[in-house]
Amino acid sequence: MRDASKVKTKKLYYDDAYATRFTAQVVSCTGSDVVLDQTLFFPEEGGQSADRGVLNGCEVIDVQIREGEIHHLLKNEDPAAKPFSEGDTVSGEIDWEHRFSNMQQHSGEHLFSGMIHKAYGFDNVGFHLSDSEVTLDFDGVVPEEGIREAERKANQAIVSNIAVKVIFPTPEELETMDYRSKLELKNDVRIVEFSGVDACACCAPHVRRTGEIGLLKVISSQNYKGGVRISILCGFRALALLNHEHEILMKTANYLTTSSDEIYGLTVKMKTENAALRASLKKAVSENMLEKIHAVSEGEGNICFFEDDLEASAMRDAVNVLVEKKSGFCCVFSGSDDTGYKYIIGRKGGDAREAGKLLSQKFGARGGGQPQMIQGSVRAPRKELLELFEIGEL
Ligand SMILES: [Zn+2]
Repeated sequence: MRDASKVKTKKLYYDDAYATRFTAQVVSCTGSDVVLDQTLFFPEEGGQSADRGVLNGCEVIDVQIREGEIHHLLKNEDPAAKPFSEGDTVSGEIDWEHRFSNMQQHSGEHLFSGMIHKAYGFDNVGFHLSDSEVTLDFDGVVPEEGIREAERKANQAIVSNIAVKVIFPTPEELETMDYRSKLELKNDVRIVEFSGVDACACCAPHVRRTGEIGLLKVISSQNYKGGVRISILCGFRALALLNHEHEILMKTANYLTTSSDEIYGLTVKMKTENAALRASLKKAVSENMLEKIHAVSEGEGNICFFEDDLEASAMRDAVNVLVEKKSGFCCVFSGSDDTGYKYIIGRKGGDAREAGKLLSQKFGARGGGQPQMIQGSVRAPRKELLELFEIGEL
């Protein structure tokens, strides 16, 4: 039996973060889980998702590290198949576009966290880098202007094209160094230094010079666990997002025949006007309905009114007038066949809840109330509701 605790996969990405192809010996292969003597595949570690790529043409879908041993998980349709044997030489290639993007995001994170640390003394206590997001959690709340300032300074450091150095200091050297770290570290510590800007213990691949990060953009910030969670994007991912958002802005400006500067003010104005129009429309509809209801002649039987969009108070007023005119169920429905209806049903000298029971049995309606008046919601076609009350079982 191999003693896993003694096996450590050689991390070729430590020697050269820019290498994309390598050959290695298979140490073990169990199903689709392959361990090699050395690899360029960065495993999921330190909050960063794993590299993608291929081993002898087989797609690598995940890479995990356990006690220094790096496991490559292959896409394998047949779980019983064993693609490699111990001692085989395999050639691997990482997905460079994906890796370089991660290097840009990750290196940008160092710069931004370094700026926040310098200005506020806060640490990045949670880092997450996946294909969908890059988030940094700080153990203190950074004000909005502090976030903008850190963004500006990080971009200044990008423009300055600072060299990025990797150092493996001795424990003695480490004691005299000033660096950021999430853990108390002693042995095999890898320090990534952005000269004059930041030093941080880190295991991931980085760019050689900050200029390669291209751009760092803060996307959002929110209070999180007593601190703040900040989302950033760097390089081509930042460019892709800005292109996407710019396209939305331009489309909207064209549609509203205005300039991008005016969109916000115009949207607020339109929303306010729309709310006022809706309110006056509702009022007119209620008044119109009440007029019709007042014209209803007194007599036996049920009666139903339908409107598109009524306030509950208007529905109640209408039902209160109707129960004085008709001895049966007096129903007011607000809504449409597509969205469903809210209803209020009243009955004077009878039990309105009987109508509610039938609506519930027939259409799964919800609601309840007193014998004189019930209210609820129902999804049923207007035609069937009319049949039920005017010529049907009630
Ligand atoms: Zn790093």
